[in-house]
Amino acid sequence: MSEKLSLRSIWKAKQRIIGIAAQTRLIYSEALSKNTGDHVYLKLENEQPTGAFKLRGAANKILSLSLKEQQKGVATFSTGNHGIAVAYVAKQLGIHSIVCISSRVPNGKVNRLKQLGAEVIVVGDNQDDAEDYCYQLEREKGVSVIKPFDDLDIIAGQGTIGLEVMDQCPDIDEVIVPLSGGGLLSGVAYTLKAIEPSIRVTGVTMENAAVMHESLKQGYPVKMAESPTIADSLLGGIGPNNEHTFSLTQQYMDESLLLSEKAISEGVLFMIEHHKMVIEGAAGAGVGQLLLKKKGKERTIVVIVSGNNVDHETVRELLETR
Ligand SMILES: *Cc1c(COP(=O)(O)O)cnc(C)c1O
Repeated sequence: MSEKLSLRSIWKAKQRIIGIAAQTRLIYSEALSKNTGDHVYLKLENEQPTGAFKLRGAANKILSLSLKEQQKGVATFSTGNHGIAVAYVAKQLGIHSIVCISSRVPNGKVNRLKQLGAEVIVVGDNQDDAEDYCYQLEREKGVSVIKPFDDLDIIAGQGTIGLEVMDQCPDIDEVIVPLSGGGLLSGVAYTLKAIEPSIRVTGVTMENAAVMHESLKQGYPVKMAESPTIADSLLGGIGPNNEHTFSLTQQYMDESLLLSEKAISEGVLFMIEHHKMVIEGAAGAGVGQLLLKKKGKERTIVVIVSGNNVDHETVRELLETR
């Protein structure tokens, strides 16, 4: 059973994940601050050992399982940063991990998961089949399925970013968070607002297939067709039976902004040019949003730089079309 979401559960997550997830740096961005007229800081989750914040949630979830549950192994159906995080945590703890994927998943991703020691099982040719198979393994073999965002232990794990940000930058006025399933935003927003309710929370997503944005507008979880995006880690639905992140995002997000592919790309390029850091599209969204901003008001803004899982080809294309 997951523990109810509270500052206490997030505090416990912070203790639990020590030694697996890193406490990441928060740096001042001279270049972005100059650009916007605000005081802009970057929370560098791209510096996690797996290259993305998802390690926090996965570590908290897996470490919250009983020893008996851990011994039966864990499974997931994500091939992105969450799948990598689950495989990494399982390897650190010496437990078995299974990642169920569809036959469409590219070899590069499969190899990375295998290198981390995961057992990769190919099922069918779409994501839904892979997900169904995961739950079949849970029923038949007793493995624990580690969900990517809609789980209170995952949300509490991501919320530890909020505690660190508060420590590193207590004067924060606003946080900008890349938004997909809403685990990251729910955890960070819950934590910051529990400490200081006036902190503004802005979610950023690509304008093509912004599922959470559209779901909030409609008032229930919607399904949308996906189209290619440079922010590929933000793709995916929020689940028709969403239990937590839909309502938490509804409650805690002050504004939801949609960004063009161009604006997101500018964010990625800005980080290369001014900070000498290669980040992925999803993480570039927050930076891209600030680049569009009109004159700021000297407010203190923290951008969550969520990950760096991008291939060389994509980066090369970005630099060439510059
Ligand atoms: C998963 C992910 C997100 C979005 O997180 P959600 O909890 O699904 O909203 C943002 N950036 C990166 C790099 C991710 O991997």
